[in-house]
Amino acid sequence: MSMETTAWTQLYSVMHAEAERRPFARATLRRIGAFARPHRRRIVRFLLLGVATALLAVATPVLAGKVVDAIVSDGDEGTVVRLALLIALIALAEAVLGILSRRLSATLGEGLILDLRTAVFDHVQRMPVAFFTRTRTGALVSRLNNDVIGAQRAFSNTLSGVVSNVVTLLLTLAVMLTLSWQITLLALVLLPVFVLPARRMGRRMARMQREAAALNAAMGTRMTERFSAPGATLIKLFGRPEEESAEFADRARRVADIGVRTATAQAAFITALTLVSALALALVYGLGGFLALRGTLDPGAVVALALLLTRLYAPLTALAGARVEVMSALVSFERVFEVLDLAPLIDEKPDARPVPDGPVAVEFDDVRFGYPSADKVSLASLEEVASLDTRGGEEVLHGLSFRAEPGQTIALVGSSGAGKSTIAQLLPRLYDTDGGTVRVGGVDVRDLSARSLRDTVGMVTQDGHLFHDTVRANLLLARPDATEDALWAALRRARLADLVRSLPDGLDTVVGERGYRLSGGERQRMTIARLLLARQRVVILDEATAHLDNTSEAAVQEALAEALQDRTAVVIAHRLSTIRAADRILVVEAGRIVESGTHEELLAADGRYAQLHRTQFGRPALDKAA
Ligand code: ADP
Repeated sequence: MSMETTAWTQLYSVMHAEAERRPFARATLRRIGAFARPHRRRIVRFLLLGVATALLAVATPVLAGKVVDAIVSDGDEGTVVRLALLIALIALAEAVLGILSRRLSATLGEGLILDLRTAVFDHVQRMPVAFFTRTRTGALVSRLNNDVIGAQRAFSNTLSGVVSNVVTLLLTLAVMLTLSWQITLLALVLLPVFVLPARRMGRRMARMQREAAALNAAMGTRMTERFSAPGATLIKLFGRPEEESAEFADRARRVADIGVRTATAQAAFITALTLVSALALALVYGLGGFLALRGTLDPGAVVALALLLTRLYAPLTALAGARVEVMSALVSFERVFEVLDLAPLIDEKPDARPVPDGPVAVEFDDVRFGYPSADKVSLASLEEVASLDTRGGEEVLHGLSFRAEPGQTIALVGSSGAGKSTIAQLLPRLYDTDGGTVRVGGVDVRDLSARSLRDTVGMVTQDGHLFHDTVRANLLLARPDATEDALWAALRRARLADLVRSLPDGLDTVVGERGYRLSGGERQRMTIARLLLARQRVVILDEATAHLDNTSEAAVQEALAEALQDRTAVVIAHRLSTIRAADRILVVEAGRIVESGTHEELLAADGRYAQLHRTQFGRPALDKAA
């Protein structure tokens, strides 16, 4: 059947043309196939349903034609009634099949959403911290929501659209040809008018789709950023709400504009197609009526042809639409795959091993490090910049060596920006070094399993992040199997038990987003409680005291002292007491260790430490507090 090949050729050429224009589309298709594979049984069932639906769709016009023939040829009433009953039965069957196939396609589509979402989530979790420091959360969340849904919608629409429509098209054409080949051919003359605009429109719609997705993400990002507690606070303090509103309105307006443009383009497209099919219908009536009057065609055949024609152009319209869907599907899939393709910079080796048992030493051996450049860790589209900074990160640590023996506390001091936090972040392998080695328990951290490293190295940062969840859930993060008693013991040791007991729901009280309902000191003690629970053998502390008052500082300090007991610790020290108690003090300046020794030794040397001590720690008030 030549028509059969035509339809397929068109569909293929459409995809092919696109694949040529953008060479990665073919690879994208292959990957979509990989995602569809687990669902292949359902897909087959769905396709079979599509064929059955198509068969039923062709039957009704043929039967209608027979009714007309029975009427004009003065046939018996019984035939007419039987035909009508049959038509009713078919309508019933069509309804049932319709629901079944909708259900099946929803199952398929939702299954695909689930797979894609979990894949993206799992992948993003493995990304290094550098990725999150650069990525705009809103843009990332939009990938997980909008694009995944776009991909699914297009996938199931395309599947149902393309297959059942191709079958309907072929069957309809076959039946029409047997009824009257002349009329069928004439009706097909208008086919190119159909296909040509569809090609152009497909490309345009894909472009608009991409633009709309980017605009939507930009708007979402703005909201997530401005509506976070710190963001909102900043706006209240510094922001000019009018400008903020205007800028948001501007973004929202662009989203609205593209919505109108897409809708208009779609409407123009559909209207044009409807018009073409109406014109073809006029042709069928004209030529069919002419032939019927001549007596070369049954009146029933004219009716059947006219009815079939409407069913011919419907799948054609849908196929043309499916093309648009395919294009947007590719766009959505690409946006999702783009995230999946971003290789995690820091990955576990296949033969990764655990940290050896027993007390562990921590060692930096000639470590050089620069923060990775943006193009290595991020996606331009997630940062909302046109192109990523490809400049290599400037070296921040220049060949740094030190060793903390098991159970020792090492204090890092130095001016701000010297590299202390950077040193701290290399230990739990939030970043990898560019040169030299970081060892925990005598093993290069790059050879350790991620889980074992996590279980060994604990870190308390300044901001003490808490998830918007219960106190219990926030604590269990550190040790999921902790008993109720263990939780309370940790809270007691972190000087938090009284506070938690006074909360309305005790351990089950939800602490606000970013822990905002707790004070800075309380939040920090909560992270100390976590540390006590996790019982890691190595502890890194970024001991910020800026937002603590005297009472809570004393409480935090006591809790910290407990947390450090019998552990190997690296402390970014701000308190004189911690520094004095440290086994060794490293003075870090501009990415190098410039002095090291005990408090007394360093004071006696009268170098950089002595100077720091005079300016930062030497104030009598602080000394007394310590
Ligand atoms: P300290 O903790 O001693 O105040 P840091 O280790 O935070 O110093 O910073 C050391 C240097 O690294 C600084 O010059 C800082 O600008 C840079 N730096 C810190 N964090 C990043 C980052 N995420 N990306 C790029 N550069 C960074």
